[in-house]
Amino acid sequence: TDNSLDQSRATILLMGLRRSGKSSICKVVFHNVQPLDTLYLESTTKPTTENFQSLIDLAVVELPGQLNLFEPSLYDSEKLFSSIGALVYVIDSQDEYLSALQNLAVIIKYAVSIKPKIHIEVLIHKIDGLSEDFRLDTQRDIMQRVGDDLLDYGLEGVQISFYLTSIFDHSIYEAFSRIVQKLIYELPALENLLDLLMQYSSFDKVFLFDINSKIYVATDSSPVDIQTYEVCAEFIDVTIDLDGLYETKGGKGMRPTRCVSKLQNGVTLYLYQMIRGLALVGVSRLDDGEDATSMSVIDYNVAIFKRSLEKMWEKSKNLEQGNL
Ligand code: GDP
Repeated sequence: TDNSLDQSRATILLMGLRRSGKSSICKVVFHNVQPLDTLYLESTTKPTTENFQSLIDLAVVELPGQLNLFEPSLYDSEKLFSSIGALVYVIDSQDEYLSALQNLAVIIKYAVSIKPKIHIEVLIHKIDGLSEDFRLDTQRDIMQRVGDDLLDYGLEGVQISFYLTSIFDHSIYEAFSRIVQKLIYELPALENLLDLLMQYSSFDKVFLFDINSKIYVATDSSPVDIQTYEVCAEFIDVTIDLDGLYETKGGKGMRPTRCVSKLQNGVTLYLYQMIRGLALVGVSRLDDGEDATSMSVIDYNVAIFKRSLEKMWEKSKNLEQGNL
């Protein structure tokens, strides 16, 4: 059936009122468009889909705000909702948001009726325009109102996550990283592997990045600090520029990309290309003198990590095929 096919691909459905920022988010996160260049984007008018590969195949379906969810002629909303893993609803925090919240409540009610286990993720978006204090007030207000609406619908048990986001800083990547991670079945195993890697190498922090979007699909269990994330994400860009990471110049036998760089503050950045558009990026504080030996230990352990990742992917691929 169609349903079993859908399971092999995790779909994220992106919804929200007109001009809330859906197209901009897709352009910035998945197409490397500069945030300011989204100012003159045409608003979404028909459903569009972005596909990207990570450890799982992901699709982001963007629905135009003005679509009537229950208008069966436009698309089969029941089929769509039964196939999605996460519903991401975008609210423009710089605008009057009461009608957005009403819309959200109706959509949640519908989504949960079709797929009770769906992840519901709310982006309180465009927070760059709000002062620090006002951001938290807005978040509190929105959470309160959504909670009240759900209570009215008898849906008080539904879990919803809220994120403060803007396309002008890294908050949108952080939010998408956490949303994508919830859909990766292998995440606990991946985190274990990354913790092991930390333990046997001199990394202070490691991320497994999707190179194209700069979403991180996993990280070790130590807390993420946004500055470290930014440094690592920027290192990917630099490496791409230096090495043409995208170009398959060498054809099939291309050597894996590896890049090491020591910053002036003594921090060493390390990148190693993995499978399926993923890269491992690590931060380390090696002392002078121990660089060479530590680096070969890192290389050795990263190679082991890569092999485990390949095995994990093979296994999940086989499982999927077994399901079909
Ligand atoms: P859509 O109709 O939901 O697809 O909305 P668009 O992506 O077309 O965005 C509407 C407007 O909001 C555009 O002018 C964007 O530049 C702007 N926008 C999107 N994201 C942000 C953000 O994080 N901050 C600010 N200040 N503006 C944003």
